[in-house]
Formats: sequence, structure tokens, C-alpha cells
Amino acid sequence: MTKVMGFKRLAVANKAKQLDVIVPFLNEAESAIHFARMAVELADAVRERFGLTTRFILVDDGSTDNSVALFETHMNGDWKLLSLSRNFGKETAILAGLDHSEGDYVLLMDADLQHTTDVALDMISRILKDPELDMVYAVRANREDDRLLTRWFAGTFYKIMNMGQRYEIPENAGDFRVMTKRFAAAMRQLRDRKRFNKGLYAWTGFRQERIEYMPAARKAGATKWSKRKLIAFSVEGFTSFSVVPLRILSVFGAFVAILGFLYGIKIILEVLFSGVAVPGYPSLMVAVLVIGGLNLALVGLVGEYVWAALSEAKHRPIYILKSVSGPAVQQTAVSQEMPRTTEA
Ligand code: UDP
Ligand code: MG
Repeated sequence: MTKVMGFKRLAVANKAKQLDVIVPFLNEAESAIHFARMAVELADAVRERFGLTTRFILVDDGSTDNSVALFETHMNGDWKLLSLSRNFGKETAILAGLDHSEGDYVLLMDADLQHTTDVALDMISRILKDPELDMVYAVRANREDDRLLTRWFAGTFYKIMNMGQRYEIPENAGDFRVMTKRFAAAMRQLRDRKRFNKGLYAWTGFRQERIEYMPAARKAGATKWSKRKLIAFSVEGFTSFSVVPLRILSVFGAFVAILGFLYGIKIILEVLFSGVAVPGYPSLMVAVLVIGGLNLALVGLVGEYVWAALSEAKHRPIYILKSVSGPAVQQTAVSQEMPRTTEA
């Protein structure tokens, strides 16, 4: 039942267009049944309100529980399930989904039901109504549940990331997004091995719009993000999108060196003109510790960038596909996936 005139017109205009819903999952056995139920609701609402057909592209990111079997038995309608050969990370799983999508619109969603149907529908209606828009993304409305320190850390992270860039990575925006076919095609071209999706979306450009949302509580299972993973993830963000940390350290290094030089001159002048014997030990210790510490930190940071460069240089495939199943795969038989773009 179409209730609003606007929707009716949309439904006619979008007849025979397809929405692909990409859902990466890792050990979501407890959410699988809930998700399958929600998927039916979503597909129905999308058809009634917008006239789009919906295909679900589930990406198993190396699950070790029985979530694959559960999704396979409980999913309805048009869906396929890609299994990666191991856990590659959510960001890479999303790329695998994008590589196997051909819809006119692509929606990214979590399997744990934190991304709700009504927000998804809201995003879809926005992107359908405005032909200028190529992406609508959901931003967490507030992080009040986070600790002050976490919030400060996140804020500073984005400030440094966005320093002197031509595009801006929005804070608190995740992977809950809907995009057009051409945006998806652009994302597919970005074959970064160390993938920092938030940066990639921003880098891609086009006209994007944000909406605020409150993520629902996780229905079942536990989050896969630990503190350690979060820190590793921010380092990945830095090394793939920002030279600012390197610059800050270079400037700081130069600053310390100049200070040391001036201090040296002061000592020489004191010895020459007032004959003061400079106490050696404390000043030496200070110099050694400051310079030594700086060196270590800087070398470590450069190492991070070198490691990032090395991962790219090895030209391994970004992920390995183990199997594909579901009603939507008869026509596409895929054994092993290689990156589609040609590489220099
Ligand atoms: N996920 C994944 N691979 C991973 C980690 C997570 O595919 O290595 C999936 C997970 O199953 C879920 C989504 O990514 O569908 C978001 O993960 P999670 O709920 O753990 O993150 P949070 O919502 O806490 O940020
Ligand atoms: Mg979650």
C-alpha cells in the first residue's frame, strides 16, 4: 500500500530498478534469524514505497560458527551469500559485496540489526528523490554513551585526518550508507589493501548527504571491536590518508634540534664569559632522553607508512572467495575472485 503521493510517483519511476543490500557478517549466528525476518520486512517496504526489487548480498567474513547455515536456511526472496576464505575484516567484506553487486542502488547494512529498517528507508527515499545525490550516509547522533577520553580521542583523530585535505571525513559516520550505481562503481575501483572505508567514501567525492540516527542496541551476539582493533584501525586511517603525523613529527624534530643548538651556544658563551663550569650529567640526560625518544617514535611512525606501502606493493588479491550460494547465483559461477581493475 502506497500511502503518500510522492512515494507512488517514485514507485512508478523506479519500476524494475534493483536495490542491492550488502551485509558483511562474522559469527552472527545469534542474529541470523532476526536478520532474515527483518530482510523480508525491508524488501516488502522497499517494493511498496519505491517500486524497487531487493537483492541481499550476504558476505561471510570467515565465520567459524554456524551462521552461514542459519542465513542459508532462513533467508527468503532474492539473495546470495559469498563466503570469504578467512576473516579479512568488515571493510574488505564490503568490497567483496560491491564486486558482486550490479544493482541500481546499493545499501550497506550490519547483520546485527543495529542498522534499522526505518533509517534505511529514509536514506533510500532521499537518494531516490534527489538525482543530484550519489550517497546518503547515517551519522551516529551522539556518542554520549562513550567515555570522555574516547570522544576526545575520536575528535582529535578526525581533526588531524582532515588537516589540509581536499575532502572531509565526517566524524561518527560508519558504513550504514546507500549509494548509486556509479558511486558503487567508483568504490570498486579503489583497490586499497589496507582499507579505511570512511576515508575511501570521502575520497570518492560526488554529492553526499548525511542523516542522523541512533543505532539500535545489538540484538544478539557481541561487538567485534576491541580497543586494540580500534587503535589499529586508526593507524590504518592515518597511513592511508594522511601525511600530517609525519609532518608534525618532522617539525617537532626540527624544533627540538634548534632548541638543542641554542642551548649549546648558551653553554659555550657561559664558559667563555663567566667561567661557569656547566653541570654535565642532568643536561646530557635530558638531551639523550628527548632526542632518543623522538627518534624511536619517528622511526616507528615511518615504519607504519613503510608497512602500508609494502602491503600495497605485494599485489596480493584483496580477498579470496571460497564459495557463493543462494538463489541469485545460478547465472554467475565464480570460483575465485581477482581484483577487477587492471593494475599498472
Ligand atoms: N563484521 C565483519 N567482519 C569483521 C568484524 C565485523 O564482517 O571482522 C561484521 C559484523 O558481523 C557486523 C558488522 O560487521 O555485521 C559490524 O560489526 P560489529 O557489530 O561488531 O561492530 P559495531 O556495531 O560494534 O561497530
Ligand atoms: Mg554492531
